Amino acid sequence: MGKNLTKRAEDYSKWYNELVVKADLAENSGVRGCMVIKPYGYAIWEKMQAQLDIMFKETGHENAYFPLFIPKSYLSKEASHVEGFAKECAVVTHYRLKNAEDGSGIIVDPEAKLEEELIIRPTSETIIWDTYRRWIQSYRDLPLLINQWANVVRWEMRTRLFLRTAEFLWQEGHTAHATEKEAIAEAEQMMNVYAEFVENYMAVPVIKGTKTASERFAGALETYCIEALMQDGKALQAGTSHFLGQNFAKAFDVKFATKEGVQEYVWATSWGVSTRLMGALIMTHSDDNGLVLPPKLAPIQVVIVPIYKGEDQLDAISERVAPLVKELRSKGISVKYDDRDTHKPGFKFNEYELKGVPVRLAIGQRDMDNGTFEVARRDTFEKETVKADEVVAKIEFLMKDIQTNIHNKALEHRRTHITEVNSYEEFKEVLESKGGFISAHWDGTSETEELVKEQTKATIRCIPIDAKEEAGVCMVTGKPSSKRVLFAKAY
Ligand code: AMP
Repeated sequence: MGKNLTKRAEDYSKWYNELVVKADLAENSGVRGCMVIKPYGYAIWEKMQAQLDIMFKETGHENAYFPLFIPKSYLSKEASHVEGFAKECAVVTHYRLKNAEDGSGIIVDPEAKLEEELIIRPTSETIIWDTYRRWIQSYRDLPLLINQWANVVRWEMRTRLFLRTAEFLWQEGHTAHATEKEAIAEAEQMMNVYAEFVENYMAVPVIKGTKTASERFAGALETYCIEALMQDGKALQAGTSHFLGQNFAKAFDVKFATKEGVQEYVWATSWGVSTRLMGALIMTHSDDNGLVLPPKLAPIQVVIVPIYKGEDQLDAISERVAPLVKELRSKGISVKYDDRDTHKPGFKFNEYELKGVPVRLAIGQRDMDNGTFEVARRDTFEKETVKADEVVAKIEFLMKDIQTNIHNKALEHRRTHITEVNSYEEFKEVLESKGGFISAHWDGTSETEELVKEQTKATIRCIPIDAKEEAGVCMVTGKPSSKRVLFAKAY
């Protein structure tokens, strides 16, 4: 199975599409741009959700749920917001179907036209701020820290499984604060929460930064982001956190009485990560044999495959394996004992390799005689024979070691794919030859940014949070610049 995968070096994009389908993560559906997330893929997403949800709650947020539909008039209230999203909105205009009079089938009933058209939410700031007007009156109601797990629709023209779909799953945090300082601190905090999750659970290195004005979220004063680098040298925006100023409070008239009794507009943030994170996970670690999953997010962390002839041998192996399964489970390790007699061990080995199960144990007659297991790790393909009474400790070690090893490997890849350049010539050369992040001086104008995008397809991914002050000149215009920004071609 794994052997049929296109090689990354041959066609990275084809490799990715094949892998998502063959590893049983997701597939295209009959609806343009919309995917079906299959149980194995959904199990990974559920693990991501569960951990993120814990981290949101630890930082004081609560979950709530708002409507899927947004009245068109709401969306129009914040001018730059509607301008940013107008081009990709799905709109509900009618609420009933009927049989065509000429018998040609079901048609939209023209009589059942909605008085006000409804937008399927591309993001929920407007409906939520319309609600917050009723929830917020005084400084005592603040801060308001809400998160929603939901689906959203953005009518994307070029879609790819997980990375960019027309409907996607995400969480969106929407918070309200009494002061500008508090709202900025919240937006920064959530960028940090995302970075911590992506680094420590997904084992994907990210760079924290802010977006330039032209890449900012529609309606935001500042967009914080985390940017990851894929194996093909293209960048992927893995999460965003926005400082929205008082834009939505003004558009929806959300004011609060301060301690001194003065009426003031509320300060806002919003932040989101989506099923795109699945794409980041797949693209960062996987290889030509299939998926490589970090143990912390693998639905199956250990698979045990018996190698046997006849039922008696299988029974004996199953008896040997049962207490091990029990002990691993008691330690919170998810184990699958694959005793299906419908598939050969070789087939099973391939399947779990393709599905990125971090550790595979095999046990055959020789292991039975010697009291051992064969332990194989997915990340390095290393195999060793381990005594039965040492196998639990070995697995516990591997859960940590594989997590660290794939993170280090990704860090090393990124380290060797960040290039500093000092001229536009050099920039174009590096972009062509190896891609990756390119660190360069920029004059701070949207015109220069646009020019680079037009000529090279590279965009400014972020202005890194930890960018050092460094006097330089813009690689394109020669105008002065005080710090380097990161350019890359991006998904
Ligand atoms: P935004 O609301 O535009 O800041 O996006 C919030 C999050 O959703 C970011 O992490 C984006 O990377 C992600 N995202 C945006 N558009 C899509 C899409 N079409 N498919 C999947 N994820 C998306």
